[in-house]
Amino acid sequence: MTEKIDQDADAIVVGGGPAGSTAATFVAMQGHKVVLLDRDHFPRYQIGESLLPSTVHGICVMLGVGEEIKQAGFMLKRGGTFRWGKSPDPWTFTFAASPTLAGPTSNAFQVERMKFDNILLNNAKRKGVDVREGCTVTDLLTDGDRVVGVTYDDDEGRRVELRASFVAVAGGNTSQLHRKLNIERKFSEYFRNVALFGYYENGKRLPEPNAGNILCAAFEDGWFWYIPLSDQLTSVGAVIAREKAHLLQEDHPTVMSNLIAACPMIAEYLADARRVTEGPYGRFRVRRDWSYSNDAFWKPGAVFLGDAACFVDPVFSSGVHLATYSGLLGARSMNSYLRDPANETRYFNEFERRYRREFGVFYSFLASFYDMEQDTGSYFWDARKVTQSDASDFEAFIDLVGGVSTSNEPLYSSIDEFKESTTELGTKLQAAVDDSPDPDAAGQEFMSRSAEMNTVWQESRQVRRQASAPPGRIRPEQPLFEDGLIPSADGLRWTAPDRRPDDDSAVPAAGS
Ligand code: FAD
Repeated sequence: MTEKIDQDADAIVVGGGPAGSTAATFVAMQGHKVVLLDRDHFPRYQIGESLLPSTVHGICVMLGVGEEIKQAGFMLKRGGTFRWGKSPDPWTFTFAASPTLAGPTSNAFQVERMKFDNILLNNAKRKGVDVREGCTVTDLLTDGDRVVGVTYDDDEGRRVELRASFVAVAGGNTSQLHRKLNIERKFSEYFRNVALFGYYENGKRLPEPNAGNILCAAFEDGWFWYIPLSDQLTSVGAVIAREKAHLLQEDHPTVMSNLIAACPMIAEYLADARRVTEGPYGRFRVRRDWSYSNDAFWKPGAVFLGDAACFVDPVFSSGVHLATYSGLLGARSMNSYLRDPANETRYFNEFERRYRREFGVFYSFLASFYDMEQDTGSYFWDARKVTQSDASDFEAFIDLVGGVSTSNEPLYSSIDEFKESTTELGTKLQAAVDDSPDPDAAGQEFMSRSAEMNTVWQESRQVRRQASAPPGRIRPEQPLFEDGLIPSADGLRWTAPDRRPDDDSAVPAAGS
């Protein structure tokens, strides 16, 4: 039973991770009253430590924390080093080698999420967001088919009712609030993996200048991530097939030792290391079933951001990018809606199409990356050959990203086209690595040869461009879709492409 009815807000944001704090801050920066509710008290643990340049040099700068992130002492990440594909030797790509990423901002950081997320949340508070920690949202309030608020249990155990013009759900992968609106979450069979992860001190580092890179190493049963969080601390995780999940019922230290022993490169890097056994990093954790997409990203009065909407395999460190990028897109739609409620559908369709497109680009790129030949001939890798996968694995995906390419055509019109395109790219990526005279050249080839690789970074470049524009002076962009909208001059709302950049009026309804 509700024990307290709180004063209405313009927007409620559920969750204070990167998606939620990004969205809340950008809405508060437009002068709206925003309440952010998180069930935890910060700083709190979260996985997802390897970032991409667009988050660090794009969205963090727009949020006003670019300098703070730079000064926080996070490990500099110039790119990724992979023991991946047929070659037994690791190869390295640097962000600087990509034509779309080259320049002074072609790097990112490896972050302890407790620190990174806390910086974003404290910034939200400074920008005027009413942040309430220890508050668990239990339900969405509806009036007809419209979401009009939430109920939550506050820190003192009281059930509170809070209403707002709009609700953003950014409660991460465990969030179930979509069910209330009959939104279905569809899991990808192809990427249905399980991860076991923990932390080590005194692990070996890659030779300079790549010591801060993420290292991903394929082995017979799957792959490892090895992320240097500081000179001492390393995050280490093994990704294995869901069919092997029963192994994780045994004691985790033994399972992890066996997996490490099966991957020579990780075994070598951890030979002199000691596992952390105390504090927030002192236990092994397991995550499973983590590639999925909701069949709708918004409904009247509510929008789903970050992992609450979709998530794709972590091998290319895309999670926090997708979370903060969707936070920016969602904030633009909420800000536009709060000024001009009549065009809700147009504003949130723009959000959904852009977010699905970005998710789809990473999804298909990652399918190609998994499709590269491995030298192991194992169950895990055989099952990840795109051509051998069941058509239904990709059917749902094609439905979900349908109609989201730049020309309003489906990204892929059929399963066969999807399979053909992803295997072709997998072969190209493999050739880029195989044909290169040395491991560093292999990574540069990998980054520069493939046009698809540049598609992956396209929005990343756009966001960094926006961040480096003088305040309020973002250059007009081309719309991504026919009938689509573009960011306003301050980057925080949508405007019609034929408006002057400084035109402040509402957009006309589609077709008018
Ligand atoms: P979260 O960070 O999960 O934040 C959600 C917040 O909502 C939490 O603070 C939670 O307390 C709160 N919350 C949840 N429910 C409620 C509720 N009912 N009421 C109130 N508050 C609520 N990404 C990368 O970029 N790089 C990586 O290297 C990487 N590695 C990964 C490895 C693995 C194994 C996995 C599974 C993911 C990885 N990710 C990585 C992805 C990354 O963890 C997520 O994409 C990212 O954290 C999503 O941010 P978010 O804000 O959507 O959600």
